[in-house]
Amino acid sequence: MTEQNRAEIVVDLDAIAANVAVLRERVDRPLMAVVKADGYGHGLVPAARAALAGGADALGVTVLEEALALRAAGVTAPVLSWQHVPGADYAAGLRAGVELSVNAEWALAEVVAAARATGTTAQVQLFVDTGLSREGATPADWPALVADAVRAQADGDVVVTGLWSHLAYADAPTHPTIAAQVAVFEEATALARTAGLTDARRHLANSAATVALPGTWYDMVRPGVAVYGLDPLGGVAVDRGLRPAMTVRARVALTKRVPAGTGVSYGHTHTTTAETNLALVPVGYADGVPRAGGNRAPVLAAGARRTIAGRVCMDQFVLDLGDDVLAPGDEVVLWGPGDDGEPTAQDWADAVDTIHYELVTRVGGRFTRRYT
Ligand code: PLP
Repeated sequence: MTEQNRAEIVVDLDAIAANVAVLRERVDRPLMAVVKADGYGHGLVPAARAALAGGADALGVTVLEEALALRAAGVTAPVLSWQHVPGADYAAGLRAGVELSVNAEWALAEVVAAARATGTTAQVQLFVDTGLSREGATPADWPALVADAVRAQADGDVVVTGLWSHLAYADAPTHPTIAAQVAVFEEATALARTAGLTDARRHLANSAATVALPGTWYDMVRPGVAVYGLDPLGGVAVDRGLRPAMTVRARVALTKRVPAGTGVSYGHTHTTTAETNLALVPVGYADGVPRAGGNRAPVLAAGARRTIAGRVCMDQFVLDLGDDVLAPGDEVVLWGPGDDGEPTAQDWADAVDTIHYELVTRVGGRFTRRYT
């Protein structure tokens, strides 16, 4: 860390590329790297470029703005965006060559209108809701959506490039809901193909399914979290050949010696049991460090893992070091790959009762981001 880097998120782009290469080789078919939510907190454009360098065939984002930002940065690979509201700027997406996911007949009608207005043929992927009850047309609404898409394709307004869905229980690989969703997906995609949508790629597998459910791989896989080296099944990423790409660290802002019985941070939820050294770490919940980490979450400081002492504040938290010593400017690691004894994002997730997805996508605030 340089002096001005009070607090930084370091992103290992080679790890992202290597993770994609590992996954792609394992599945031996096209891979769409999901880079939504600012590349899961790793940076949209750098993460996308690293994923493509590792062999990703396409990129997935949630909202059109993310897709347009990729294009504005000069990324020319196929990009799919999938969460649109009525009146979305489909025309901008089409001019930028973005593939658009469609959930419903009214949305397809808007895409067709935008294709006509821009003189383009829209590349469309139809989303079927196989059981997550989130995006997509229900099996009851699917035949009508397919029929509309077949018509729009015959008219030259759209070409249907994908048929897709998302699993509810991929992280529980033996859950019976998976087989039920696969059965619905088989039926829905067969119906679409029989109706004439023969060139569309079928894809269903997120990271957990890419890692653990070969029966869901179809024509392409669509991992997100594993691209960033986080184990989708809550285990140890390196055991799967994945390398966590994010390290989060901060420099100590202040140290002080205090007597036994000293209350620490708001509400004094930690009290020192002996004379001790305290260290002030200048990041807090405004920077995406969960407040729930108070008295629970681990960090690496002065060569050992320690639990945050007392409440995490908006801008800072405190460590109780005992007789160990840190100096102002010394480094504290919140999470990283785990190689040097630092906690992983999974360790933090376990400590604060959440998932690593939430941690990496929320950390930010006044951290600076640096790429290696
Ligand atoms: N596909 C869709 C539709 C998603 O919403 C997501 C992320 O939640 C993914 C793929 C990637 O999921 P994961 O990060 O679990 O691989």
